[in-house]
Amino acid sequence: MAKKNGQERAQLSLETRLAGLRQPALDRSTIWPYDKGEIGDFAYQRYDHPLAVESERVLGELEGGRALLFSCGMAAITGILLCFCKPGDLIAVPRGAYVGTSHLIGDELSRFGLQVEEFDQTELPPEKAALVWLEPCSNPMLSFPDLDASIAAAHAHGALVAVDATTLTPVLLRPLEHGADFSVHSATKLLGGHHDLVLGVASCARSEDAVRLHQVRRLAGLIGSPDPAWLLLRSLKTLPLRVKRTSATALELAKRLQKYPAVERVNYPGLGNAVAAKYVSAFGPLLSFVVRGGAAAAEKLERSCELIENATSFGGARTTIEARSRWEGERVPAGLLRLSAGLEDPADLWCDLEQALARV
Ligand SMILES: *Cc1c(COP(=O)(O)O)cnc(C)c1O
Repeated sequence: MAKKNGQERAQLSLETRLAGLRQPALDRSTIWPYDKGEIGDFAYQRYDHPLAVESERVLGELEGGRALLFSCGMAAITGILLCFCKPGDLIAVPRGAYVGTSHLIGDELSRFGLQVEEFDQTELPPEKAALVWLEPCSNPMLSFPDLDASIAAAHAHGALVAVDATTLTPVLLRPLEHGADFSVHSATKLLGGHHDLVLGVASCARSEDAVRLHQVRRLAGLIGSPDPAWLLLRSLKTLPLRVKRTSATALELAKRLQKYPAVERVNYPGLGNAVAAKYVSAFGPLLSFVVRGGAAAAEKLERSCELIENATSFGGARTTIEARSRWEGERVPAGLLRLSAGLEDPADLWCDLEQALARV
């Protein structure tokens, strides 16, 4: 137990606990010998492996639930839909939710009889939904639901609730503590944090749901591999520091962008979103903004950045920017740019953004 000001502290802080994690050995085996003829903890890598179990222990503690490791964020989402939805179910998905989630449910799973209804997540979810999807600080429009009210309303109508908190991480938001049944993350983003791994996490509030989801993961082959899991455990040691630093930089850039004449609008909940401020103390690395001049101006700007990398994804050490209409077409404003603040000096980043903005 640590001592602070001479007093015993009941529990070490999250930063201290994560910094003290021991890096486990990287076991890449796909099989483990039976223990005197009996199946031990591990038998076959698709079912389970030691690095999945160790990352789930740490992630479960972060999330306050039973965490399961998946091969990517979309695999975690697929697992939840396969496990907890049935033909005829209506899934309520926020308008402007992550583009992969919207397309998977709306375009692909509709063949299996799942129905989808898009809704404005700043309002209460539709009453007839069997599963309500929420995405606080959504990618890329940064909208934020009133979580407690939305989860209570969904439960009052018998719906399950899944929260994709990728842009915030459990350092800023723990959806299960707000009553969500499931939380999901793309660990490819901030949890990984270095643009060098692809993984996903799904956590369940109830252990019986985790047992079912584990069975689906095993049968559908959705588990994450040992190498990226080993890298994820390395990354989690610095997660709180990275979240704090990149959130502060994103806020600073958002404030500066807001004052810039060529910028029509900045989306960042840190700019006075009172609902978001009820739930989180910082708002993550992701922001988006609309430049005057539409798609042509947005593309000119992304190409004019020198320090900031013109690439997709987010949550890494390096700041990235991209015109989102490339992936999302008319779902987003033509001049929308999404920026993910990295670990560079904010003054250097602003200098680069300013020279790029001056060219559009
Ligand atoms: C990237 C992302 C996903 C998908 O994660 P992958 O690891 O790329 O499969 C899901 N939700 C959100 C909010 C994301 O940003």
